Amino acid sequence: MPSLNPFEEWVHQRIRERINSDEITKSDLEKYKLNKLKEMARYVYDRSLFYKRLFEKNRIKPEEINSFEDFSRIPFTTAKDVLDNPYLFLCITQDGILRGFTIEEANGKFRRIFFTKDELLNIIGSISAAFKMLGINDNDIVQIVFPFEAQWGCNYLVEEAVRLAGGEVVSTGSIDFEEQMQKIFNIKPKMIIGSNPYLVDMTRALASKYDLRKAEVKTILLSRGCDFHPFTKSIREEIEKAWGCKALDHYGTMEAGMANAIECSYQSGLHINEADFYYEVVDVKSKKPLALGDEGELVFTTLSRTGMPLIRFRTRDVSYLIDKSCKCGVSTLRSMAGIKRKLKNGSQNNLLLGSFNIIKRLKSILQS
Ligand SMILES: [Zn+2]
Repeated sequence: MPSLNPFEEWVHQRIRERINSDEITKSDLEKYKLNKLKEMARYVYDRSLFYKRLFEKNRIKPEEINSFEDFSRIPFTTAKDVLDNPYLFLCITQDGILRGFTIEEANGKFRRIFFTKDELLNIIGSISAAFKMLGINDNDIVQIVFPFEAQWGCNYLVEEAVRLAGGEVVSTGSIDFEEQMQKIFNIKPKMIIGSNPYLVDMTRALASKYDLRKAEVKTILLSRGCDFHPFTKSIREEIEKAWGCKALDHYGTMEAGMANAIECSYQSGLHINEADFYYEVVDVKSKKPLALGDEGELVFTTLSRTGMPLIRFRTRDVSYLIDKSCKCGVSTLRSMAGIKRKLKNGSQNNLLLGSFNIIKRLKSILQS
């Protein structure tokens, strides 16, 4: 029986490509994830220079990985590994890559993650399913306030996802708050999507001047982006009170492929796209895998990327996993709690995707 939740059903549909079952159960999901992990370990060992070296150095043979525990013997991949040489991670030739995403580090170096066209289309599919879960239907208007970006950037992925869900999209970019407000009153969007810091700042700047409730927005989706910005209970309450609507959280860094987990309107955890990502939580100090529900650092493995897959990537984000049914209908997928904090390191990714960075720089030049 198909899941009644569109997001869960999308994940189940992907799993049915591997597991022949009408009704996908939790145990089907576990079986799927383990098979995918075994497959990925073999794939990266055969194709990525970085992982071949890592496995050989640690005497790990892909054929010896037969359980989640075996898989957790693979050492972590860190942001620094990717920074040092992203090309060592590539499993296909460069002409198979459609788009590279870049983050500039504080030290002026760049981190790059590459995606194939199929991977980007799959991201669009997953976001679209999430929008359907959030009630976006025919002709609903979604306003996107991300900064404009090069082709196949975050803006484009979200725009296409809205259209695929049947909605209409208006992208207004990260413009001046007053101008944005006028556009919101004119457009009357059902949902507004933008980066967490922009939406928080905009709400604070406008709430004292306008009755934001009159815009009749139903949902504000605060994108996690690549930088960490707290989405605390008080920030959520502040936004919900100002707009009179739901403020929802999202998780997905550049390395993770922008869209990994999303909150539904019941706000009891961010539902994870488990068709494409395997999430572990490890102890902050010992780095040992933790039991479900224990708080630690999120570590993910991509289950379906063929261009530049990542194995056990350390996110430095602190959270915990939830394995409970949700009132929205999700009953087999795990969720993650909103990110509480980010672990510090020497090379904090304190910058955002390329174009946002350029806009920030331009602003500071204009203001000085
Ligand atoms: Zn839910």
